[in-house]
Amino acid sequence: MANKPYTPTDIPGHGRWYLHEGNLVDGEPERFISVTNITDSLNKMGLPLWAAQGAVRLALENLPQLIRAMRRRPCTPDPNGRGCGVCPNCVLREMSGWSRRESEKAKQRGSELHEAASWWVLHGHWKILDPKIQPYLDSFRQFTEDYGLTPDSWELNEAVVLNREHGYAGTIDGVVNIQGSATWQAAQLVAQIAGWPNRTLRLAMDTKTREKLDDPRFYPEMALQLKAYMECPTWLDRTDWSEHPMPTLDGAFVVQVRPDGYKVQPAITDEHTWAAFLHYMHAHRWMLERGPRSVGVKSFPLPDEMQGTKAAATRVARAKKAAALAQETPTEASPVAAATPEPTTPARRTPARKTAPRKAAKPTAAPATTTTRSIEDSLRAVPPPEAPLTHDRLPGMGLHDEDIPF
Ligand SMILES: [Zn+2]
Repeated sequence: MANKPYTPTDIPGHGRWYLHEGNLVDGEPERFISVTNITDSLNKMGLPLWAAQGAVRLALENLPQLIRAMRRRPCTPDPNGRGCGVCPNCVLREMSGWSRRESEKAKQRGSELHEAASWWVLHGHWKILDPKIQPYLDSFRQFTEDYGLTPDSWELNEAVVLNREHGYAGTIDGVVNIQGSATWQAAQLVAQIAGWPNRTLRLAMDTKTREKLDDPRFYPEMALQLKAYMECPTWLDRTDWSEHPMPTLDGAFVVQVRPDGYKVQPAITDEHTWAAFLHYMHAHRWMLERGPRSVGVKSFPLPDEMQGTKAAATRVARAKKAAALAQETPTEASPVAAATPEPTTPARRTPARKTAPRKAAKPTAAPATTTTRSIEDSLRAVPPPEAPLTHDRLPGMGLHDEDIPF
């Protein structure tokens, strides 16, 4: 089944991208890196500690299981990676996966709340939800009441936004009109951003869920994310994927939704935030597309004429050793030379032959001689490249079709 245009797609090892199969660029689907692919990659200082504490807590709560595991031998997992579940290795795997499972749960919770909020904006009534999500939706509903918001306040709702110039895309939770005269809270937010309460501001909004009670917390990457959306000149209508110009925005805020309440926080989205986002985006793209190969063996191929010289050098060294043991001097007809068709041997005893640099057309044709030549002679046989070698010319650089799972 063909993907819808600009559908977010998780590419293994490359994170989330928006791909448009209908638009081919250089023979490949037009692609945009997802804004959250970039902001999620930022090092969140608190995360390792949180993950470690969670795993240790889980271990303490399950001490008998740990003690039982220590009395067993590690099992051999089946081809699908399934183990016995009770040996030390299996218990370690289970407990160390705590933070990943928690993150998945949080992600799921976030998308369920987004879906329910979006439902209200589109249909004007609140959905009945999973009891686990309901407290979050109640808090979100409180937010809309406190700020005098109705579904009509939403100019854009869960819209895909695009920046073709910089090659990224994202899904903005909302572009919302906040009317300063609507409520006291709305007036405060408008005054915080515009310095004057008696206005209506058109703001980019992002909703974040947080499980921890009575503990609102905001992170710098939230500002980067909102600024990235604000700098998208285009938004897409999901009904027909038509493109429309993004409305002019006055600023941005995050609404953090917890089971016990919510908190609204404006974000600074000036040119410094924009510059920082672009830097992170370029750094992250380099990491994904060029990073691994920047220290890869295949990134530094030898010219064809020199292929196999390493193996040849090893063979020569071995043969020399054998010859020395047999007290023989290597000659042109000796087994040493016969075993080494490649011209690599640093042969001190043989004077350098004055041969013209050979035009080696094919790699297999290069080592035609069976004599042992000097390094200088061998190197002279390697023709200069027709074009300078750049990493862009290397095979497999960047994101290619084989990385995309359809
Ligand atoms: Zn096991």
